[in-house]
Amino acid sequence: MPMRCAIRKVALGCCGGLMLTASFAAEKSDPHAGESEHGYTREEVDHDYGTEAGRVYYPEIAVDTDDAPSFAIPEEVGEEVPLKVYEVVPGTWMFYGNIAEVDENNRGSNGNAGFVVTDDGVVVIDALGTPKLGKRLIATVRSVTDQPIRYLIVTHNHPDHAYGAIAFRELPGVIIIGHKGTLKYINSDRIEHSVTYRRTFIDPDMKGFKAVTPDVLVNDTVFAKYTFSLGGRTFDVYNTGAHHSYGDLVIHQVEDNIVWISDLAFNNRVTFMSDGSSKAAIAAQKWVLEKFADARLMIPGHGSAQTKPFPMVSWTLRYMQTLRDRTRAALDDGVDLQDAVDSIEFDDWKKVRLYGLNHRANVGFVYREMEIQAFE
Ligand SMILES: [Zn+2]
Repeated sequence: MPMRCAIRKVALGCCGGLMLTASFAAEKSDPHAGESEHGYTREEVDHDYGTEAGRVYYPEIAVDTDDAPSFAIPEEVGEEVPLKVYEVVPGTWMFYGNIAEVDENNRGSNGNAGFVVTDDGVVVIDALGTPKLGKRLIATVRSVTDQPIRYLIVTHNHPDHAYGAIAFRELPGVIIIGHKGTLKYINSDRIEHSVTYRRTFIDPDMKGFKAVTPDVLVNDTVFAKYTFSLGGRTFDVYNTGAHHSYGDLVIHQVEDNIVWISDLAFNNRVTFMSDGSSKAAIAAQKWVLEKFADARLMIPGHGSAQTKPFPMVSWTLRYMQTLRDRTRAALDDGVDLQDAVDSIEFDDWKKVRLYGLNHRANVGFVYREMEIQAFE
């Protein structure tokens, strides 16, 4: 069982200084070809956080469950093969991805996506992690409706949500909506490192990759929205700031009262902070909890969908707040970065997926954030 191994490693304190390297890699100006989003090289990545080879398991349901999918994808599966999706509300479909780090077994299928079928076409939310998965998502839409795909909303620039977008760009008539921060990402070193890294182990799936510039950039003001309608359904696309990436979006599917929160909160998974801002994340989490307290459903970028009162949001918020409080106290006590990373542990989070991979990096991220703020 990969997760059990992962938890044991944390308890033993393996993976030591690697996390620290991870938290700094993003800030270096020289290229890090072949490094992961965590800053590891391929050889250093702990496979216990990935997906078990040959295993194909899907939960019965995708709403209000701790049960998570674990499906490896054989390299030879064609791009025309639909993915398994869940119809969470009539006409609203969710792809429930592996809760794992990207590896050669899940082949980039480690995040959620979804789509809404209306009488005038389909709105897709997120494009998955490779051009091939983007094509498979298109095939999935085709498998449930003849309606054309009219919109793709890319919630943020991270690979697991955005790298399949090129498949939609190649379809005629699809309007792609994104955050302005995506443009900054496309012109950064980060994208090169990230693409190079993926090509080291899932190169065939990355074939044809190109960064996609959105056709519509959502209003630059935080919590402002861009609204469009299709087939009698209204979609409010909110700019929730650069809290998790170079710029993040949350979508309210108005008539169905469903909120696609993307990586504003995680369900059954520890967040990973490599971009964005812990302060902005907390502000946006509070905003979403208050504004959409009566939503019928929230669908995150990772983990199962959830009904109210949306504990995944409160828990992620509490994680962030505790992380900030503990890190602030460490800084005030003159604790150095390495000691802070070694000592700030959350016992109640240790059994949550990806704690061992992400938590130490998160401590490093917030420590550095606070250090920078102290000099501003
Ligand atoms: Zn994500």
